[in-house]
Amino acid sequence: MSAQVFIINAGSSSVKFSLYGENETAIADGQVDGIGGTARMKATGPSGDVKREWAVGEGPADQGAALQTVLGWLAETVPTLDVKAVGHRVVHGGIEFADPVVITPEVRAKLEALVPLAPLHQPANLAGIAAASISFPTATQVACFDTAFHRRHPFTSDCYALPRKFYDAGVRRYGFHGLSYEYVAGALPAIDPAAASGRVVVAHLGNGASMCAIMGGQSFDSTMGFTAVDGLPMGTRTGQLDPGVVLYLMQAKGFNAKAIEDLLYREGGLKGLSGVSNDMRVLEESDSPWAAEAIDYFCARARREIGALAAAMGGIDALVFTAGIGENSRSVRKRVVEPLGFLGLTIDEAANSANATRLSIESGRVPVYRIPTDEELVIARHTRLLAGL
Ligand code: ADP
Repeated sequence: MSAQVFIINAGSSSVKFSLYGENETAIADGQVDGIGGTARMKATGPSGDVKREWAVGEGPADQGAALQTVLGWLAETVPTLDVKAVGHRVVHGGIEFADPVVITPEVRAKLEALVPLAPLHQPANLAGIAAASISFPTATQVACFDTAFHRRHPFTSDCYALPRKFYDAGVRRYGFHGLSYEYVAGALPAIDPAAASGRVVVAHLGNGASMCAIMGGQSFDSTMGFTAVDGLPMGTRTGQLDPGVVLYLMQAKGFNAKAIEDLLYREGGLKGLSGVSNDMRVLEESDSPWAAEAIDYFCARARREIGALAAAMGGIDALVFTAGIGENSRSVRKRVVEPLGFLGLTIDEAANSANATRLSIESGRVPVYRIPTDEELVIARHTRLLAGL
């Protein structure tokens, strides 16, 4: 068996993991969430599924403890467990990291310095790295960044119209979901080589949502900017918001930074607008008129961004849907695409209902695809390569 690589995606209260062996199908994967509260573990391995739940205070208290719990289970279910390299999803690579990198003490210090750019995610990613270096002391550790795929986008996609000193200090449009876009850009040539070498809009519509304009396989522009709160409305994030609203709330309503952060990241988006849920499935099944309006807004903004990104590239040769909503919500896909006939985009009812790979009609001028994303696999490939396995 070829060497095993272990993939970690550490969030503030969750650790997602995958173990890969000789091929590109995970041997085991799963997650621990609710860390520090009512912790739960859900995982699948060679000897089946496991589900565990702990009472408050009894489960893993931090990422390190969660990792130890996962490793205890892995050792039972995978008797040949022998991890040679660990790949980490890291949200922010700053200006410098345009590619995955082997984590050295120097790299770790640079990633620490980026915490102010992603205060909600980067510390959790670093906690995952710290925990893994204890659990796997001899394994090569690799960081793969959500921002890296966008680092070579043009200046006009990288800047804000602020005095230049802010750009120089790192106030840039980084873009996120890069590992997902990299996966899709890598999968598209086998499906449609002509489109893959042209102008593609990829719609990553999940709990976090963004779109990327990809030209010739490279990121050209994206809807997310300095932070992952810009662009499309998301489960609980507002998406694009006039910064004047923030000023107004601060000046006239006494909001402080924490209250603004809660509003932008946790109380906005589908959740805020519907007053029902952040979850698209729940909204689609709801009778609430606000739920229906929240879905309307989500679809309307998605259409706007497709148009904007197509214009940015001077045209569109394919549209790809991915992530939880993009891969599964037939109704959102239909409502987003149907009014965009003027761009050459169409939706075939049968293909859309069947969740087919090609969703547009045979004679459609611009194909529309559904490509399930696999960020963990992208990390596993990079990790194997950089670890020389
Ligand atoms: P994350 O950003 O957390 O990785 P996902 O990519 O898993 O999120 O996407 C989660 C979203 O996908 C949720 O809003 C969920 O309701 C939605 N979703 C998943 N399956 C379906 C479905 N069958 N129909 C509609 N929405 C779905």
